[in-house]
Amino acid sequence: MVIMAEYDVIVIGGGPVGLFGTFYSGLRDMKVLLIDSQDELGGQLVTLYPEKMVYDVGGFAGIQAYDLAQRLIEQAKMFGPDIRTREWADILEKTQDGMWVVKTDKGGEYKTKTVMIAAGIGKITPSRLGAKGEVEYENKGVYYTVRRKNEFQGKRVLIVGGGDSAVDWALTLAPIAKEVTLIHRRDQFRAHERSVKEMFEVAKVYTWHELKEVKGDGNKVTQAVIFDNRTKEEKTLNVDAVIISIGHKGDLGNMLKWGLNMKGRDIVVNGKMETNLPGVYAVGDIASVEGMPKLALIAVGFGQAAIASSVAKKFVDPNASVFAGHSSEMDKFKK
Ligand SMILES: Cc1cc2nc3c(=O)[nH]c(=O)nc-3n(C[C@H](O)[C@H](O)[C@H](O)COP(=O)(O)OP(=O)(O)OC[C@H]3O[C@@H](n4cnc5c(N)ncnc54)[C@H](O)[C@@H]3O)c2cc1C
Repeated sequence: MVIMAEYDVIVIGGGPVGLFGTFYSGLRDMKVLLIDSQDELGGQLVTLYPEKMVYDVGGFAGIQAYDLAQRLIEQAKMFGPDIRTREWADILEKTQDGMWVVKTDKGGEYKTKTVMIAAGIGKITPSRLGAKGEVEYENKGVYYTVRRKNEFQGKRVLIVGGGDSAVDWALTLAPIAKEVTLIHRRDQFRAHERSVKEMFEVAKVYTWHELKEVKGDGNKVTQAVIFDNRTKEEKTLNVDAVIISIGHKGDLGNMLKWGLNMKGRDIVVNGKMETNLPGVYAVGDIASVEGMPKLALIAVGFGQAAIASSVAKKFVDPNASVFAGHSSEMDKFKK
């Protein structure tokens, strides 16, 4: 086994909670590696809802999810952690000297005294329809989320889906796009009534319709073929972009085989965020604290990350205190 580096803490997952855990572990003078499978750090904030406003994180009366992620990334980097993105933590193994090795899909083998699992809902991948041309035109006009709404300015946009996100995107893009068409395979929408009513005012809506094919010139989307799923009648629409908004899946991969005590997709932890494996903690959306109600909220995850980092510090250095005091009183912040 070729160990590439040794750490006090390896944080698995660079969503909001893992980012805060990375900061807090650095604050506690621990050597940290953060591993995330996505291209970009930020977890659900950047992958699922970058343009939405978040109102329930302390200190912000309202902040765009993408901006919140950028602030967390800045804070996470304060103590110079190693960060590896596009890398999937695949295997967790105990070493003979009581430490852990995290092996990744990129051939990484990292040794650590403790592990903080902040894997959220797992690796977030969009649900695909399987329509002809869909994969070929991914990021060339076919999208699964709206990262920057201005990219759709002046474009003819087709949205596929009938849930909150699909309806929200129709409303958000209608004022800036050239035209917005939405198709849904049923005539009932899983979205707020008022939003659905507004959507019918600003977008062309075809219920009982599905996407058959995405066509283009090889570089970009030019048309979409849709069909009425009752009569099979087809229509060809001239479009510049197709947004497929039918949900996302979270993949936990081999984590389910790591020997963790799981309840469904959740890792069971005690009040110290300890799992059943010594030195392994779980925080955020993936954690279920025994005897406590589960609130899958960023604010709750921040508190859990602070607890896990503090408990991990004591595990790494038994002479350290779990509570190290307030950041406002710490020398490391004094200029
Ligand atoms: C549409 C929407 C709106 C929301 N609005 C709010 C809101 O207003 N306020 C609020 O508090 N919460 C909100 N939430 C919930 C909030 O986003 C989650 O509670 C939060 O993202 C959980 O953070 P996390 O860090 O635990 O996990 P995530 O954000 O899910 O991040 C986990 C990260 O871990 C990575 N990962 C997983 N497994 C591995 C692995 N094996 N190796 C490497 N990387 C891995 C994933 O790719 C991901 O990047 C919303 C959620 C959605 C979907």
